[in-house]
Amino acid sequence: MRKKVLTVLVTLVLVFQAVSVLYASEVVVYSARKEHLIKPLFDAYTKETGVKIRYLTDKAGPLMEKIRAEGKNTPADLLITVDAGNLWYAAKSGILQSVSSEVLDRNVPDYLRDPEKRWFGLSVRARTIVYSSERVKSSELSTYEALAGPEWKGRLCLRTSKKVYNQSLVAMMIAEHGVQKSEAIVKGWVANLAAKPFSNDTKVMQAIAAGQCDVGIVNTYYYGRLLKKDPGVPVSIFWPDQEGNGVHVNVSGAGLIKYSKNKKEAIKLLDWLSSVKAQSLFADSNMEYPVNPSVDPHSSVAAWGSFKKNIINVSKAGELQTEAIKLMDRAKYK
Ligand code: FE
Repeated sequence: MRKKVLTVLVTLVLVFQAVSVLYASEVVVYSARKEHLIKPLFDAYTKETGVKIRYLTDKAGPLMEKIRAEGKNTPADLLITVDAGNLWYAAKSGILQSVSSEVLDRNVPDYLRDPEKRWFGLSVRARTIVYSSERVKSSELSTYEALAGPEWKGRLCLRTSKKVYNQSLVAMMIAEHGVQKSEAIVKGWVANLAAKPFSNDTKVMQAIAAGQCDVGIVNTYYYGRLLKKDPGVPVSIFWPDQEGNGVHVNVSGAGLIKYSKNKKEAIKLLDWLSSVKAQSLFADSNMEYPVNPSVDPHSSVAAWGSFKKNIINVSKAGELQTEAIKLMDRAKYK
């Protein structure tokens, strides 16, 4: 009888262990980055660790709304999205929690993460100047501010101010220059527009290539994509503000969900995503720059030259976003 009880107990313990291992060996990710960008990473992680990753992809807004609506019952452990403005908003709306990890502290520079450690940048995107290599010499270019000058009248193309990328850019300009000076710059840009703002960065570069305008501001990975499709496109990259504070950068990144059920495993995955091994995969998949300073960008990205980055904390993009939207509205930047 005693032997029987013991056997049952041992079996129960084993079953419990097996179930808890099964339970702990999974991480659920809600991702605003597209499947083709995250799946290769997740597959590599699963291969290395045996930990399964379930994921759901959608736009950042609906994902954040879903997490909020699911509350304590959310299956999500991590949120991955682009733009510090979005990450900041996720933190502010209370769906993330702080992560204490020496690995992340070491691998992700201060200015590319939330000061309260609720989210961490995992790749860097540079929002820089592009120009017509047929009609503009790089020596004519210098700063974002200079694009507001009279010599660019009728020669500038921009993406719409409704896109978070431009809201973040202007927010970072406010952090750098203050409201008054930033407003003067944005008004100058608007006065110089050659066309109504475009719906995306690629269209800005296509307009430059087509001769509709001579300069624009875009994220470099869109330039990379365009070059892949059309290697001879007469558009070049310029790194502004190299004598000043540097090129405006932003991040794609991730945060730990407040009601994560697999917190330990989720943090391990975050650690891994910031590691030397994963950083190339993460950055190269979208022709971005690694956040981890000990990892070099892909050779095709490195070919655009190295540059000084503006090291204002990217969380400012969120903090000053409302201010930026109001400023662009006053400047009649559509
Ligand atoms: Fe993008």
